[in-house]
Amino acid sequence: MGKVRKGQKCSVNGCENTSSHSVSYVEARVLEEKGLKLSPLRNRVYLCDEHYKLFKKLRKKIEKYEKWRIRG
Ligand SMILES: [Zn+2]
Repeated sequence: MGKVRKGQKCSVNGCENTSSHSVSYVEARVLEEKGLKLSPLRNRVYLCDEHYKLFKKLRKKIEKYEKWRIRG
C-alpha cells in the first residue's frame, strides 16, 4: 500500500474521483467480488478515499477467512 501522487484517477470503473491510495490488484480483487469493475495499472489499483474505505472494510473480513484458510 502506498500514497499516490496527485492526478491519478480511481481505478474503479465509473468512478471519477482522484485516487489517494494504491493497493495491489490481488488485494483489490475483494472489490471485484463485490461487483465493482477495476482497471488495474501494472498490477496496481488506485483508489479514491471512498473506495479505499470500502476496500479496508472488505479486507478486514477477508483476513479472518485467510487465516483460517492457511491453517486449514
Ligand atoms: Zn473511487
